Amino acid sequence: MTAERGFFHAAAGIAAEETIMKDTGQDTRRARTKLVHGGTKRSQWGELSEAMFLTQGFAYDSAAQAEARFQKAGEDEYIYARYGNPTVRMFEERIALLEGAEDAFATASGMAAVNGALVSMLKAGDHVVAARALFGSCLYILQDVLPRYGVEVTLVDGTDLDQWKKALRSDTRCVFFESMSNPTLEIVDIEAVSDLAHSVGATVVVDNVFSTPIYSKAIAQGADVVVYSATKHIDGQGRTLGGVILGTQEMIRGTVEPYMKHTGGSLSPFTAWVLLKGMETLDLRVRAQTETAGVLTARLEGHPKLTRVIYPGAASHPQAELADRQMGAGGTMLAFEVGGGKDAAFAVLDALEVILISNNLGDAKSIATHPATTTHSRLAPETREELGITDGLIRLSVGLEDAEDLAEDLLGALSRV
Ligand SMILES: *Cc1c(COP(=O)(O)O)cnc(C)c1O
Repeated sequence: MTAERGFFHAAAGIAAEETIMKDTGQDTRRARTKLVHGGTKRSQWGELSEAMFLTQGFAYDSAAQAEARFQKAGEDEYIYARYGNPTVRMFEERIALLEGAEDAFATASGMAAVNGALVSMLKAGDHVVAARALFGSCLYILQDVLPRYGVEVTLVDGTDLDQWKKALRSDTRCVFFESMSNPTLEIVDIEAVSDLAHSVGATVVVDNVFSTPIYSKAIAQGADVVVYSATKHIDGQGRTLGGVILGTQEMIRGTVEPYMKHTGGSLSPFTAWVLLKGMETLDLRVRAQTETAGVLTARLEGHPKLTRVIYPGAASHPQAELADRQMGAGGTMLAFEVGGGKDAAFAVLDALEVILISNNLGDAKSIATHPATTTHSRLAPETREELGITDGLIRLSVGLEDAEDLAEDLLGALSRV
């Protein structure tokens, strides 16, 4: 480090050394330690909490330094916040450490991550195979956007390996699926689908939001790229939109970054800071929410007013064995079907006192959703039926409230219909 370097450069120089020497969140540590310390870079003041670098630009010591950085920016050398920012970088390094990915690119929302992962690698003439049970906006990219640019998309039942096998072709460039589907919580076998996709040379992109980064072993199970909406569990407190694309360094820096940094979907430093704080408690929150989801499932199963209870962590789930093998837990989401269709489902929702009616998930606040009339209302009725999204179905994102209060709330609401 030379004396003439300015504060931010000095800070970056020190940080690089400290990261190597002192960072207790590196590879060999366990998840909770990584979530608290991973990726932290400190300025010369040694601030305990991650600094929020609210700067879009970076001043250079000399014209030659600017020239050199535009040629090739090194580690901890920044150009413009759309390309990268120290606070955003801390978030990227922390989530990459947790996921066991070589690198990550943070995005302005989960959809910027899905779009960026797919569009950055695809070109006209490519073929994509995707699971049909998808978040509405993911389906929009696959069915409405990609075909306009000459990408052919085949949709399959993600749980049926024969359908994947039949759909994959030698020109299949990419495979995309949500490992746990929304809202019916079906599990797609990451390992089996990745094996099939790799046999034709396709890149596997997994949207792992419902599994959460805590239970994800997607990279080890064969996924090439993992995307998250950080809006969900990673923030987990309903404050921000955010997302992230994870993969090999070659994929992230060679394919994803050039597309993202020139098209404007980058994460803001303020949001990255909020997400860094969210990550500190991510493991605690997700495990507590999962435990409560199990308690609520046990209370709801067999209830006379319900025709179905779906929870991947319950023995009654048709893919319970796969869910356990893939995630080691049931996750924070459950769904149940009220007998009596839409009117009965609405009556239950309206009778809830603690659980809120909304459409986010992974939040500290428990949230109930009626997918047929909200998140999945755009789908044709036949498609909804095919996906099992009936008029009586309610999706529940389990929050951090006391499990007994939530159970009382649900059972009380059910008793009133
Ligand atoms: C919410 C969600 C997205 C989109 O994330 P945003 O942050 O809302 O853009 C994508 N995939 C899944 C599975 C989601 O739940």
